[in-house]
Amino acid sequence: MTNDDGIHSPGLASLADAVTGIGPVVIVAPDRNRSAIGHALTLDSPLRAEEIRKNVFSVDGTPTDCVNLGVHGLVDGKPKLVVSGVNLGANLGDDITYSGTVCAAMEAALMGFPAIAFSLDSREFTVDDLARTSAVVEYVVGKVLPAGLPPGTFLNVNIPTGPINGISLTCQGKRHYGEGIVQKIDPRGRNYYWIGGANPGFEDIPGSDCNAIAAGLVSITPLRTGLTSDTALQLLADWPLSFVMD
Ligand code: MN
Repeated sequence: MTNDDGIHSPGLASLADAVTGIGPVVIVAPDRNRSAIGHALTLDSPLRAEEIRKNVFSVDGTPTDCVNLGVHGLVDGKPKLVVSGVNLGANLGDDITYSGTVCAAMEAALMGFPAIAFSLDSREFTVDDLARTSAVVEYVVGKVLPAGLPPGTFLNVNIPTGPINGISLTCQGKRHYGEGIVQKIDPRGRNYYWIGGANPGFEDIPGSDCNAIAAGLVSITPLRTGLTSDTALQLLADWPLSFVMD
């Protein structure tokens, strides 16, 4: 189990609570918030892992580092399932490419393990949302654990805030990105910039993760590790490609 909000995130605690009864759990998570770090892997510095409680490891690395360390270094045996989250904030549409939460699950899928990323569409963890989230985690994990997932795939699960109206299989949607950069002047008179502003909204795509969350539905999007575009592959086959160089 890992997370990108860090080892002390209430979302990670709720994830652990939800699956504790199902089987032995090992947590390997970043020692601090590493959100929006994507699929980053630390190659140019050593990593330290501290076992702060039994089977709970705090690592000074990224979520992807944590999955690597967990599987290849810290844990005996192989996981039956790797879960990531519960992230504070939804991971919908284009968010997936930035998300440390989703990319940790992707890392596990690349290694050949069933994996699920869980995110809550909220800016805070309320007691009620955490209770609902735990129930969703239990439900989805209960489905995936016995059956597994097709090779090279993993699940991106988003949970709405407030009452849950149902559960829906979705495709990846599309975020609107507006004028998200704030420019200000620092105390020494130089410009600085801050990325990310108000909630950008999303395109209305029926069946998408964004639409599901807006309708109060839990969204389950099956994603794949192979990024090749079959459509473009067929389209580009018409290109008269020829390139030789001495
Ligand atoms: Mn996060």
